[in-house]
Amino acid sequence: MVSEVLQGIYMIALPFPRRRVKSIDEIKLYVIRGKERDLLIDTGMNEEQYYDMLKKDFEELGVDLTKTDIFMTHMHPDHSGLLAKLKIPENTVYTVEREAKAANGLRTDEYWRERYKQYRKEGLPMSYDEFTGSHPACEYFSDVPVDFTIVEEGCEVEIGDYHFRCILTPGHSPQHACLYDEKKKLLLSGDMILTNAAPVLFFDEGLEDPLGEYLNSLGLIEKLDIETILPGHADIKFDVYQRARELREHYGQKCSRILDLLKEHGPLTAWQAAEYTIKDDIPRELTSLSHVSQWFFFLPTCMTLRYLALRDRIRCSADENGVSVYSLL
Ligand SMILES: [Zn+2]
Repeated sequence: MVSEVLQGIYMIALPFPRRRVKSIDEIKLYVIRGKERDLLIDTGMNEEQYYDMLKKDFEELGVDLTKTDIFMTHMHPDHSGLLAKLKIPENTVYTVEREAKAANGLRTDEYWRERYKQYRKEGLPMSYDEFTGSHPACEYFSDVPVDFTIVEEGCEVEIGDYHFRCILTPGHSPQHACLYDEKKKLLLSGDMILTNAAPVLFFDEGLEDPLGEYLNSLGLIEKLDIETILPGHADIKFDVYQRARELREHYGQKCSRILDLLKEHGPLTAWQAAEYTIKDDIPRELTSLSHVSQWFFFLPTCMTLRYLALRDRIRCSADENGVSVYSLL
């Protein structure tokens, strides 16, 4: 589905399979018309049906890939997956360094072995196969390495009537990049801030404190003058500042809940804490859910514990297996 959302900016909405993230039902890509070349923001997931839909939308818009460059906001497969098919010798795919590295890492065992280590340290009880079979980012990724052109924070992108600057907002991914047009007060925000869900926070190489980094990034966004926001999912053009306040409140409540849990139950691993936090939402045991669903209780709990421990608000020690155990000071 294609619609013009701002002068010269077209939104393409592709379906997102709900079995992965229940609150998300589509991915939004943007085509910005330029005088000689167009710019596509993100790509959708690597599957034939999405590629066919995208090709139809491109036809409707008259998008010619030989004259269309691509900017990838971040490495997750719903934003990077179709790069394998859309990158041709005549176009350029721009992104920042660590997002490029992670996007190309998704197809390698080495990348997932490293991630598995990070989550095992937090008490994740899954086997490696269960882990890769259920991790929200371990599907629909690009099946060939992508030849990225690396841009730096602050780089400028001129396209049509727009003049963007690249702003880094890590937390949801290692360097998540937004494009900001100061004059037009417009932010192309990827997954940085969504109306219907708090962004899922993941570990990555060098991303050991996703919640801390995310809250810093939120602070950075709040300092910008934004009238229009075009995100990668859910509603567009919402009040960024109000949503940022809601998200801060959401994470504040998560921190309070975690402190209460440690007070009530004593030292806990992140997995054990998640076994309690699930009861706040549904009367089920964590292990009775599918592995895919388990992630959505485990990740927020785990990232909140890390955040509190790294700010010396709780203690983190390792048990005999090297698993992190969190306790009150
Ligand atoms: Zn994402």
